[in-house]
Amino acid sequence: MPDELRRTCGDCQGPMSPIVVMDKLGRAYPSSLEYRQPDDRLSFWTGKYPTAGPVNAFMCQACGRIALYGGKHDETG
Ligand SMILES: [Zn+2]
Repeated sequence: MPDELRRTCGDCQGPMSPIVVMDKLGRAYPSSLEYRQPDDRLSFWTGKYPTAGPVNAFMCQACGRIALYGGKHDETG
């Protein structure tokens, strides 16, 4: 399993596994949840934020803590 899919809980050191964050309507955001730098601007050329990247959610199997981790932003555009 890749390292990015293995996390350790900061509270109880339990194993954390990837989860999908949903809203109350059941809509899932497995890949559309993203982060970017606050002062980043949409690129005129690509229509994207240059510093945007995916947000990956993990939940501790022991205590239920949910943590969000920013992935590497897509440098290929
Ligand atoms: Zn935990």
